[in-house]
Amino acid sequence: MNVAILGTGKQSQVMAYLIENGYNSILAEPLNVAAYVSGYPNPSVVGDKAVLNFEQFAAFWRKGLIQKIIFPREVFFEAQKWALTYLRQNEIEMSEVLVAARLNQKFYPLEKFERDFERLHEFIDDFGAIKILGGEPLLNPEVSEFVKVCRKLYPATPLHVVTNAILLPKMPDEFFDTVRSCNAEICISFYPPMESKMPAIHKLLVEKNVNHVISSKIEFFNWRQTLKRNNDPERMFKLCGYTNCHNLCDGKIAACFLPFVTKYFNAYYGKNLPEDGALDLYDPNLTTEKLKAHLLKPFERCRYCTPPVTVEWSTIKNPSPMTDWVHD
Ligand code: SF4
Repeated sequence: MNVAILGTGKQSQVMAYLIENGYNSILAEPLNVAAYVSGYPNPSVVGDKAVLNFEQFAAFWRKGLIQKIIFPREVFFEAQKWALTYLRQNEIEMSEVLVAARLNQKFYPLEKFERDFERLHEFIDDFGAIKILGGEPLLNPEVSEFVKVCRKLYPATPLHVVTNAILLPKMPDEFFDTVRSCNAEICISFYPPMESKMPAIHKLLVEKNVNHVISSKIEFFNWRQTLKRNNDPERMFKLCGYTNCHNLCDGKIAACFLPFVTKYFNAYYGKNLPEDGALDLYDPNLTTEKLKAHLLKPFERCRYCTPPVTVEWSTIKNPSPMTDWVHD
């Protein structure tokens, strides 16, 4: 079977080495590592393998020339746990948890976050991945501490800091040391204004020797919000990609981010969209079963989501018209 490996960094190269020099001797069907895949395929060759961008990978995949893509993260800690971790992820359907490190100018206080995450850990002891988001998480002066708390509570979970990369050149060494020592990964959402700066940022991350993934350039965006109430929240919930990415914020967890940000939309535009959907982690009657059931259920706010409408990416205006957010 031909496979590609996500990323080109040390982790990805170690994964290729382990497949070719270890796993293949025990697999019923050996894997041929045909290429690496990167949102930023520079250099275009690593070792003896080509580096494909996502479009090239998709073309190979559609033609059946590459059958699988391998995410190498788990192997970095302890190779023998790879299969176990992979199985665990399947069991929980690759569910992820997002942590909002900064929301509408207000930082998530570190002590509160640690308490909330410890509370969540009482119910769920593994995720497919943890992503630290913002707004922009690098604006939070304690972002390194967030990384440490996540790693302490979830030692084997893939851990990502998702950033637009603007502040990366200004980050202190201590931040990169933490990312490295916690086996976290910097995930860059590559927006068009950063195009000329991306080569230098990529070089910086290589020099800092941190795991990193740069997305392909994001030239389109999806509108998913509407002011028109729909009658089928179940359908919207089933169609919704965000439901695999649960959000933790301020002592509560929700299937997506909207229960936490709708209040800002309502306040800015004088609207009254439902702000429901978040579950209080400190409810004394909460159980793991109740928590999981909650995250699988649509809620009132889902009535104001639609299937995605793709539009060209652009920065929001100031003041921001409602069309920056909703499409009718
Ligand atoms: S409100 Fe419901 S449909 Fe909309 S993004 Fe959240 S989970 Fe998905």
